[in-house]
Amino acid sequence: MPTRRRWKPKWSEPCPCASGNKFKDCCWRCLPDFDIGKAYFQAIKENRFDRALVATRADITQYTIWHKTNTAPVIARSGAVSKLLRIDVNALGDYVSRLSWLYFRLELWKDWPAVLERLRSNIQHPSWYKRITYHLAFHYLGPGGDRGKARQELAKAGPITKKEDDLELLRLYGDLEFDDLPFAARIEILDRILELDDDRENQLQYRGAKAVQYFMIGDAQTAEQQLSDALAMVQQTEKDDPLEGYEKHIYCRLLQLKGSVRHDKQILKASALEFQALLLEPNWTRSGKANIHREICNSYRYAGEWDQAETASREAIALDGSQLDKVHLAECLLYLKDTDAAASEIDAVERETLPHHEFEDFVFAYSAIAIWSNKAERLTEAKTLLQGLGTADPIFNDRRLNLLLRVTETLASGNASAAAKNDSTPTGGVATASSFFLLQPTLAGLGIDFSEVLEYMARKTPKDTPDGLD
Ligand SMILES: [Zn+2]
Repeated sequence: MPTRRRWKPKWSEPCPCASGNKFKDCCWRCLPDFDIGKAYFQAIKENRFDRALVATRADITQYTIWHKTNTAPVIARSGAVSKLLRIDVNALGDYVSRLSWLYFRLELWKDWPAVLERLRSNIQHPSWYKRITYHLAFHYLGPGGDRGKARQELAKAGPITKKEDDLELLRLYGDLEFDDLPFAARIEILDRILELDDDRENQLQYRGAKAVQYFMIGDAQTAEQQLSDALAMVQQTEKDDPLEGYEKHIYCRLLQLKGSVRHDKQILKASALEFQALLLEPNWTRSGKANIHREICNSYRYAGEWDQAETASREAIALDGSQLDKVHLAECLLYLKDTDAAASEIDAVERETLPHHEFEDFVFAYSAIAIWSNKAERLTEAKTLLQGLGTADPIFNDRRLNLLLRVTETLASGNASAAAKNDSTPTGGVATASSFFLLQPTLAGLGIDFSEVLEYMARKTPKDTPDGLD
């Protein structure tokens, strides 16, 4: 093997860690060499985030030196996109993910896009530029962000197909674009994600996502098969490798979904108990707890256990007062036969703040309440809402059209028929739309908040070590 000339940043040039400082004033003193990553984990353990930032910057500089010394010359010589390059993009990408979390945690988020621009030249290859684009798009999903801008940014990565190798990019693509993709394209993307990562958490989440897709086109049988396979995977591995963190959450959701697809009350109640058990774990944020109560409410709503569902929705509201929880509370009150209370609860919902699928929930609940209350103004409003609702997924479109028929009929006859009342209960269709989308590929919408997603990325350890090191 020829001796490689070790690449080093120039003394007075910007440091490769993208801090904005010159190398001589930045990382050169603390390059970790083969102890890469160690100082970061130590600092995290001690909750010293400022030190973690210094350590991660040095890790990035170290890895960049390795890349430019070992991999870059190979690419320059042969032009081939090698396995080495893939390893470098993933490893350096993971350090950049940590850096993103620290910028967020240390309230430096506004500087983050400029840092990313500086990191662009660390690996001079389109697959790295794509990774930078991914981070820029992800940045727009943060607090006060804008999904539209995130989509515009992601579009710069070029068309994303079933041949895409970048797992993170595929996941983000799923999160941002799924609603606009046809069924076959969605399945292709999900299969690609499953193919690229054997990790159990990835398998559970994306098999669950496939089940949701089949369920939404009305193929309950395939949906159930997918869910059973995923749940069997947990049974087979759980003893040697207990479920942790998000995996547990995903497992509970798979159980809930299976109960819902099979209309099986026992499974649904079992899923509610599993969610209850999750609440016993330490370190939940308020919004994290509220999310779990929302899930418990969903399990009981699908099981038709309205008292318990009501309690759970009130717990969620007390914790963070989401508008979606109010929609669910209104629904519980309706099926507990308190139509007036349900009506005043649904009127208090700030409907304009609800995102797409949550707005669907609102419209379905509003329409059911309108039918049961049999008031002309309410029915007219429900009719307008249902007509204006654009929902592409067959199962929810069926529910929309059915409710539209019942609302129109009740309005014309001045009386809600038994059939109309029956169709506006959960047995007449799926109770709500929004929770089914939680198992879609998602980064920022896993029922956890944005900073928790970033923390999750920050805990990830890069799997591959750089190849060809001297
Ligand atoms: Zn530096």
